[in-house]
Amino acid sequence: MTLSEDSEQQQQHDGHAEGEQYAGQAAEAVAEEEEHGHPVPGGGGPEARCGRLHCVSAGTRAVRPVEPHEHDAVGALTVEVYRRAGWSYPEYEPHLRDVASRAETATVLVSQSEQQVVGAITVATRLGPWAEQAVRGEAIVRMLVVAPDQRGAGVGDALSRTAVEVARADGCTMVRLSSRPDMTAAHRLYERLGFTRTPSFDWTPHDGVQLLGYALPLVPWCGQCGEALSPEGHARCRSAAELEPSRHCAHCRRRMVVQVTPTGWTARCVEHGTTTS
Ligand SMILES: [Zn+2]
Ligand SMILES: [Zn+2]
Repeated sequence: MTLSEDSEQQQQHDGHAEGEQYAGQAAEAVAEEEEHGHPVPGGGGPEARCGRLHCVSAGTRAVRPVEPHEHDAVGALTVEVYRRAGWSYPEYEPHLRDVASRAETATVLVSQSEQQVVGAITVATRLGPWAEQAVRGEAIVRMLVVAPDQRGAGVGDALSRTAVEVARADGCTMVRLSSRPDMTAAHRLYERLGFTRTPSFDWTPHDGVQLLGYALPLVPWCGQCGEALSPEGHARCRSAAELEPSRHCAHCRRRMVVQVTPTGWTARCVEHGTTTS
C-alpha cells in the first residue's frame, strides 16, 4: 500500500464518528491490519507482499475459542483497539469489555502468540443479541481485533477464516457482516474470502453511521425453497426460516421429512440424518 493510501486510511480512522455500532467493527480492524501488508515467508521479489491466504496456509496462527481466564485480556484488547481507532465511546466500552457475555451467546475466537492473546473475533451462529440482521441458519461475524504490534502477520485473516468455519460447523448456510463504506481494504479482504455486497442489508445503526452489508453463502441453495441461494437471500424464505424448519438438506439439497415435536421440529435427510430445532 502506498504512503498516500496509508495517510488516507489514517484520516478515515481519525474521522470516525462516535456512535459506531457493534456490527461493522470487524471490517475496520481488518482494514487497519491490511494496510501494513507483510512479507511472504521465504518469498521475495514483487510477490513479497501477499494477501492473508499465504499466512493462513502457512499454519502459523492457531485460532481457538477463548477460555474464561482470558476474558479480561480479550476485553482489554478490544477496548484498546477500538480506542486507538476512534471507534469507542463511554457507553459502548462496557459491551466491548464484556467478553463473558459474548461467549455465552456467541463464539469468541482468539489467536495467541507467546502466551499472549493477540487477536479476537466474535461469531454469532445461534441468533441472540450479537446477531442483528440474522435469521435462523445465518451467522454474524463481528468485533475482530488485532493487537497493534501484530498487524500484518495474518492474525485477522486467520480469525476471519476460522469464524467462517465455525459458522459452517454449526450448520449455518450464510455468514453476514457489516462494514463502513470507507474501509476499502477490508472490503478487498472479504471479497478474497468470498463475501459479496448485499445492498439490501445496508443499514444505519446510529444517526450518521452507514454500514454496508456483506454476505458469504456456505451452501449453493436455499434451505427453504431449494432454489439457488444468492448472498442477499430470498426475503420470503428468510421470513419463513424464523418459523419453520429448512425443507432442503444443507448437505445434499434433498427434500427433508419434517415433523413437528412438542418442543419444536425435526427435519430428516435420508442420507445426512436429523436436524432438531
Ligand atoms: Zn428460498
Ligand atoms: Zn442430505
